[in-house]
Amino acid sequence: MATRKSTPVKDETQAAAAAEPAEEKKSAAKKPAAKKPATKKPAEKKTAAAAAKPADTVTEKPAEEKTAAKKPAAKKAAAKKPATKKPTARKPAAKKPAAEESVKAPEAAAVEAPAVETAPVETPAAASVEEAAPAVAETVEEVPAAEAAPAEAVEVQPEAPAPETQTESLPEPRRSVAFIGSECYPFVKTGGLGDVMYALPRALIKQNCDVRVILPRYKCIPWKYQEKMVYRGEFMMDLFADGRSFYVGIMEYIMDGVVYDFIDNEEFFSAGNPYTNLVDDIPKYCFFSKAALAALNYLDWIPDIIHCHDWQAALVPVYLKTLFAGTRVGGAKTMLTIHNLRFQGIYSIPAVKYWSGLPDHLFNIDVLKQGYNDANLMKAGLAYADMITTVSNTYAGEIQTAFYGENLDAHLRHHSGKLRGIVNGIDVELWDSSTDKLLPVGYGAADAVEKKKQIKRDLQEKLGLERDENKFVIGLISRLTNQKGLDLVNAILPELIDGNTQVVVLGTGEPWYEDAFRYYENSYKGSVCANIMYDEGRAHQIYGGADALLVPSLFEPCGLTQLIAMRYGTVPIVRETGGLKDTVEPYNQYTDSGNGFTFDRYESGLLLDAINRAKTLYFTERERWDEMVVRDMKKDVSWDQSAMQYRALYVELRP
Ligand code: ADP
Repeated sequence: MATRKSTPVKDETQAAAAAEPAEEKKSAAKKPAAKKPATKKPAEKKTAAAAAKPADTVTEKPAEEKTAAKKPAAKKAAAKKPATKKPTARKPAAKKPAAEESVKAPEAAAVEAPAVETAPVETPAAASVEEAAPAVAETVEEVPAAEAAPAEAVEVQPEAPAPETQTESLPEPRRSVAFIGSECYPFVKTGGLGDVMYALPRALIKQNCDVRVILPRYKCIPWKYQEKMVYRGEFMMDLFADGRSFYVGIMEYIMDGVVYDFIDNEEFFSAGNPYTNLVDDIPKYCFFSKAALAALNYLDWIPDIIHCHDWQAALVPVYLKTLFAGTRVGGAKTMLTIHNLRFQGIYSIPAVKYWSGLPDHLFNIDVLKQGYNDANLMKAGLAYADMITTVSNTYAGEIQTAFYGENLDAHLRHHSGKLRGIVNGIDVELWDSSTDKLLPVGYGAADAVEKKKQIKRDLQEKLGLERDENKFVIGLISRLTNQKGLDLVNAILPELIDGNTQVVVLGTGEPWYEDAFRYYENSYKGSVCANIMYDEGRAHQIYGGADALLVPSLFEPCGLTQLIAMRYGTVPIVRETGGLKDTVEPYNQYTDSGNGFTFDRYESGLLLDAINRAKTLYFTERERWDEMVVRDMKKDVSWDQSAMQYRALYVELRP
């Protein structure tokens, strides 16, 4: 999985370094201009480019809709249409003063004090909010049902937007929210962020929110979605410090009342994976962040709140309050959610300065600058966002400490006044054991104990494990990185294999973990199975068929696997950190309560102890174990509560 996850801050730097000798790498970083031209193909595009600032695009009306099938090659369109995008008024000289003017005031305010208090509510934005709701309704109607409902994607019901039908019982006031992030199930997912970008907007719709999700149009998005996207328009946008412009296309897809707008540009988004390496990823997400704001102006859909996710969208609040401050979208409030602080988007200042086109004065120690000569995108987003959230209360506290703070703990303590923790949920319709087509048989809380045995036998057979429903099957579904506590698992795995226990691993990641699990599979044939792959179907079967799921993470912002496990009646065994601590109540043998087994310090002996406590209950007091299975399945792990909390924050930001 070459993913966001394979590109942690430190690892990415190392990866880049590994690709070329250290010195060469540094010089490359210092000369971004020399690197990029090689990968970009300027000829067709740069002409129209001139310097059409994002602000300009606001004045343009969206082009008439055409289907993706009619307009397959975005680049071509850009090349064909320069004339229409080059009105004489669009001279760089005319635009620059406006942009620069707008940079200074909001930027200074945001750095000196919590942005929540400083950013004024602007009248134009309030006016545009009123226009926002009709805009969505219009969009929904514009999409022909036949076009927007792919045969295979049963969940797509664009002709029946959810919000309109239940208005009376919905909480007031209505709020419009633009989600901006780098991945979203079912289009592209490498981890929990993809789940959240899918499920939270749907839950917010039930909370009387208009939601529009803005994503990159990666080439790897399955064709069944690509072919149903509807063309909404295009424009040229300047980006790099030398004023070079890039094509921005907008392709739209509507699913269950949520509008998804995909930012199209083949140069940036045609790699096989969303995330590759920082040399490509940083300019890619500078482009994406700026284009997302320009697209909102272009579509004339001005939200109350812009909710950005992780470092890939962290520059959105920065662009908003500087280059976009004088534009219509500039009045929106911003929220930045940290899904994982380990990934921050760090590169050398000269390179980021060039790629982002942001003014020099932002590269100071309170905003973008980190250490001696690095720029940190996440850090800048945290400084400029009106509100920061992270995905559990415990993690919100942890990241303000040196151990968990990934070198941003002081920065986060400084901004703690606008930092909140809201735990993630899961989409309980997507994760529903009674309707799950990927399981050999469905089950609910009433028949879980019996049916899970059948699923366990099926799983054992599929994976070449000894077929015995009385074995204690421990699952582990995870990216294989050091975040996930795999060193602890490796240290004790031989001690787990006692003839009554089986271990099933599903994951990809760092080669030494992959190899370690392959080694154990080979050493304990019939008892250990290492599925070194990314496979949704296999994940569902393990959630259904295992007795317990292991999540012994070193740190875990929220964690979804323990929530999914509980929903499937699989008892979690977790380390008490981040969201694991907030969502898994430890089993109490005296009150016979709790949802799983936990341990606190990051020590393999404590993990072994927690697993042994689980095994003892399973083998000696099965009735109590079975009660816990039922209790877990009934636990509310939905998004409902959390969506209400997000909504409350949106209203706090924009009363
Ligand atoms: P993270 O975002 O840190 O990777 P989370 O627990 O928040 O971890 O989310 C992980 C998500 O990815 C879950 O939906 C889990 O089922 C899924 N997942 C992880 N690894 C795999 C895999 N190898 N195959 C299928 N799904 C996986």
